Amino acid sequence: MIGLLLGVAVGLALAGLPGNIYDMANTYVLSPVGTVFLNLIKMLVVPIVFFSIILGVMGLGDPKELGRVGTKSLLFFLTTTALAIVLAMGVAYVIQPGERGDFPTTGLEFDASGSEESSNIVQTFVNMIPTNPVQALAEGNMLQIIVFAALIGFAMIALGEKARTWRRFVKQGDRIMMYLIHLVMKLAPYGAFALIASAIGGIGLEAVQAMAWYMIAVVLTLALHSVIVYGGAVALLGKMNPVFFFKNFYEAMTFAFSTSSSNATLPVSMEVAQTKLGVPRSISSFVQPLGATVNMDGTAIMQGVATIFIAQVFNADLTMTELLTVVITAVLASIGTAGVPGVGLVMLALVLQSVNLPVEGIALIIGVDRILDMLRTSVNITGDAACAVVVSKLEEKHLPAVDEDSWDEVDAK
Ligand code: ASP
Repeated sequence: MIGLLLGVAVGLALAGLPGNIYDMANTYVLSPVGTVFLNLIKMLVVPIVFFSIILGVMGLGDPKELGRVGTKSLLFFLTTTALAIVLAMGVAYVIQPGERGDFPTTGLEFDASGSEESSNIVQTFVNMIPTNPVQALAEGNMLQIIVFAALIGFAMIALGEKARTWRRFVKQGDRIMMYLIHLVMKLAPYGAFALIASAIGGIGLEAVQAMAWYMIAVVLTLALHSVIVYGGAVALLGKMNPVFFFKNFYEAMTFAFSTSSSNATLPVSMEVAQTKLGVPRSISSFVQPLGATVNMDGTAIMQGVATIFIAQVFNADLTMTELLTVVITAVLASIGTAGVPGVGLVMLALVLQSVNLPVEGIALIIGVDRILDMLRTSVNITGDAACAVVVSKLEEKHLPAVDEDSWDEVDAK
């Protein structure tokens, strides 16, 4: 927290100073420190996801179990994302960010080409099966890694004793990665400081002022969604005190805030969910990587507010059918959005296109998107953890008593 706050303070101070001072500080201190920290974390994402999904599937022990956990998680993800976007559009209609200022509607430019590759939802599912798992690992293709690792887990259950050496390898690999994450986490305050000072210092106060109402609408919806939807789900379905939930999970949230990447936060959010929220590892290691890839409520919220904002700026009235189209496309877009910085904005192009709003409108919000990206990423990963808490409560009766540690006994024998 101290690192975060200092980072915000230094960032604001730098934003007020002449540009070349920020450039110097950023090039020689902030950016290198932040990048070293980010790279250390990113380095561990693929091996952790790979090892822990195998362990998770082994822990569940039964393909049916995995099917149930998967179905419940997807249901949770889709429902909360749809709620998020409806809430976002509601707040934007009340606050009317697009009517509060003069925004240029001509001369804007935004290249939406990046959104096309992930526009086809059927293709997203088909592409989940890797044709080359080594390539999937090398490229960090999360969905493909999940599928491949889950299949290995199944095979290991089926083979039992015959896969014993591999089982020890996976378990020890997982321990080694978790140990490294602990080490890297010690640097988190410095990394967070540098990343935040760099992001905030680069934005400039004028851009923030002009877009204040848009930002307020997004931030307000993010807060409402976290408290009402996640707090409610955790309390009612997960039977956990929401205060306890947020108090213990905030460590991962601050981490997501400083990295703006669900994927990079994954090792930390899984760690925190398992050790501080008591989510069984077999559930956490399946639900959270899946959520980090397909569940992005924070991103959907930004897209909901942004769509209404852009419609207002361009004086376009959206019909009821169009609003519904926005909900559906934003839910699908959030599945296709990768958990890395800034992708949500590119995917917004898809949502805008679905109701014929000008994609160039994105140029208006791009300047302040970095700050909002930090906040929405925190919400994105909180949704995954809330889901893990809920699903582990619902699955309590079914969870096999064998946990990963019982394999130790098997091995010892
Ligand atoms: N940065 C977000 C995430 O990683 C995605 C986005 O909205 O750009 O969760």
